[in-house]
Amino acid sequence: MTMSRRQLLYASGFGAAALALSPLSRAFAADKKDEFTLPKLPYEFDALEPHIDKMTMEIHHDKHHKAYVDNLNKAMADAPELQGKSIEDILRDTAKLPQAIINNGGGHANHSMFWVIMAAAGKGGGGEPKGDLAKAINKDFESFTKFQEKLSDAAMKRFGSGWAWLVADKGKLDIVSTANQDSPISKGQTPIIGIDVWEHAYYLKYQNKRADYVKAWWNVVNWDDAAERFSKAK
Ligand code: MN
Repeated sequence: MTMSRRQLLYASGFGAAALALSPLSRAFAADKKDEFTLPKLPYEFDALEPHIDKMTMEIHHDKHHKAYVDNLNKAMADAPELQGKSIEDILRDTAKLPQAIINNGGGHANHSMFWVIMAAAGKGGGGEPKGDLAKAINKDFESFTKFQEKLSDAAMKRFGSGWAWLVADKGKLDIVSTANQDSPISKGQTPIIGIDVWEHAYYLKYQNKRADYVKAWWNVVNWDDAAERFSKAK
């Protein structure tokens, strides 16, 4: 995993030395900004095969997500007031945020979640939710099948690039879709799961057939992770 500048300082022993030295050294160390880092995938690049292919995962994570992280860190240099905040906290109110932070911060938050709400089919991925999340889905969408249809429909109707989400919103579940890398967090909603429908998420394997990708994606949804998010959202 890439280390932040501060972690690198500590790893090199410099941070620890600076803390033990004069106030001036401490001030210097404190000036070093924390940076956002690209999270490691919780599985191998080919783990989601055949539903999501290895090369798509490699490019999606190592190139696309990395670019959001790098560009977010660049944009943060002009926003010292946001230093030290989590990306979720930063995205909660976008009214005064620079567009580069909305775009790249959203890209970072959305993808960080996307990797963990998926798992290998049959090894944590696919099937149906259990417990409280299953009950809530049945209550708010009538059935799991109707819920799947509604989320798939939102994913299909997103014009251009964006996402479709299952969110918790004021004690209820809802399905929403966002353009570009906009996050539901900015509307006060808590994402439970979300599907990336940018072409970069599926074009190598599925070309223009977004519907086939959306259908296949259900085989890799990690319902245990979703259930955990749901319980925290309540
Ligand atoms: Mn993406």
